[in-house]
Amino acid sequence: MGLELTTTRLEDAAGWAKKARDAANWGRKYSLFTYPFVTACCGMEFMSVAASKYDIARFGAEFPRFSPRQSDLLMIVGTITERQGPVLRRVYDQMAEPKWVIAFGVCASTGGFYQNYSAMPGADQVVPVDVYIPGCPPRPEQVLDALILLQRRIQESRGHSQVAEAQPARR
Ligand code: SF4
Repeated sequence: MGLELTTTRLEDAAGWAKKARDAANWGRKYSLFTYPFVTACCGMEFMSVAASKYDIARFGAEFPRFSPRQSDLLMIVGTITERQGPVLRRVYDQMAEPKWVIAFGVCASTGGFYQNYSAMPGADQVVPVDVYIPGCPPRPEQVLDALILLQRRIQESRGHSQVAEAQPARR
């Protein structure tokens, strides 16, 4: 009897914890604050997604923030050079937790066609990327698709920083 009661209470606690996490994730996915790390021509498509025709505000990701401390979504837009790598990492480290990263376009995802000594072969060399968007540049609809995919991952606690947050701290 006592054992059953204990088990039930533990199950209740786990159920409430899951409900609280689901509610927090629901709020997170519809209130993303983007830090646009724009380095190259993909920036024109980023502006297009933010403008009224494609209107990213419909998905709760309206305001770009130009301080990483006020942002939780790093949008890497354009080519990243080896020299920019440490700067990008520093921006990421300063962002609020939990945080997410989208690589916008083929240059940010893989280095694109810049196979040379100075271009980084993808921003994931220095920061964990949650969603990659192909294209040179990507269509605005692809960007919105990527955002919806990211929102699904956030709801399921599958973002890189969410997974890290859920793991017990090492001593
Ligand atoms: S993917 Fe294409 S449009 Fe985007 S930064 Fe690279 S070269 Fe420019």
